[in-house]
Amino acid sequence: MLKTVAAFDRIGEENAFAVLARATQLAAAGRDIINLGIGQPDFRTPDFIVEAAVKALRDGHHGYTAAVGILPLREAVAADLHKRFQVNVSADEVMIMPGGKPTMYMSILMFGEPGADILYPDPGFPIYRSMIEYTGARAVPVPIREQNAFAFSAEETLKLITPQTRLLILNSPANPTGGVTPKAEIDKLVAGLERFPDVAVMSDEIYDHMVYDGQAHVCLLSYPSIRDRLILLNGWSKTYAMTGWRLGYAVWPGKLYDYARKLAVNLYSCVNAATQYAGLAALTGPQDEAAKMVAEFDRRRKVVVAGLNKLPGISCTTPKGAFYAFPNVTRTGWKSKPLANALLDDAGVALIGGPDFGILGEGYLRVSYANSTENILRALGRMGDFLASRKAA
Ligand code: PLP
Repeated sequence: MLKTVAAFDRIGEENAFAVLARATQLAAAGRDIINLGIGQPDFRTPDFIVEAAVKALRDGHHGYTAAVGILPLREAVAADLHKRFQVNVSADEVMIMPGGKPTMYMSILMFGEPGADILYPDPGFPIYRSMIEYTGARAVPVPIREQNAFAFSAEETLKLITPQTRLLILNSPANPTGGVTPKAEIDKLVAGLERFPDVAVMSDEIYDHMVYDGQAHVCLLSYPSIRDRLILLNGWSKTYAMTGWRLGYAVWPGKLYDYARKLAVNLYSCVNAATQYAGLAALTGPQDEAAKMVAEFDRRRKVVVAGLNKLPGISCTTPKGAFYAFPNVTRTGWKSKPLANALLDDAGVALIGGPDFGILGEGYLRVSYANSTENILRALGRMGDFLASRKAA
């Protein structure tokens, strides 16, 4: 018998990929499946970005790059952060990463060990908890509540900090709820964190372009009092419809930058060279296609929320960001996961049960509106017919 390390029995995953596989299987068998399950834009990567990658390969950019990424791209990230949030970041603090996920992986690896506590949002992106448990640290959920419009509560978060707390994970705009934490609440949280100088913060801002109703995104880099312990996670996947390219970036404070660089050298050497040139074009080229996608998500957001609120037993808070709605389904009588499974199998609508994002996700579904309005309306119609004709299992 092979003997593997116990940590592998603790690692979790993302059920959205399992739902995608099942939906693809059903579609391949001839079923008409509407996919509101997966969290990726349904748009194509803008052509000028694709062309920049092709050109990079033709120009001979097919070898290793520096582990931290090419300098022009790190400079472009720093310039973009300055332009959008008026924060001063040096290119030497920016590291180009193979997607958003590796930043959470690395930062949790840097702080997680038996005896350490790491705070993470629940419901929240499932990889946070999975990685925390993998390291042997204790995963401490920070409750994210519907009555708080799925924003963080500064007070509740600060109360959970103990002498064992090493890292706090924040995510706004949030997956799976679409919640956006208002500036006043972040101000309060940061003021409170000043009492805990040993707690690092990892702010996952991958949906920072997708905030609606005239709000401005609040970047955690804007708070000088936590800058020396703040890790920023961001990337191109959602903003530029580039999920499959695997391109992200991190801003690492102090010696964490060198730790991250060493992890990169040990793990993947560098990010795909041509992809980095695509990322450079994305940041320095015209932004109108990215803006058009956000405007389209905003339109669909209104359609999906209005439609969900008309379904029997379902109520849906209006999400303020990202491209997810998180309707409350408790009054249907169904538990979330059986409902999600039955909607896929019987109604051909793929979405994700709230419990896949944490214990507090029970009673909710995650509906991704990264699909056409036509498909969203068809899916809502099917959900309505299903709920009218089927008793809760
Ligand atoms: N962070 C959040 C909150 C996400 O929802 C996702 C993807 O769904 C990621 C990070 C990972 O992004 P990437 O695909 O670039 O690794």
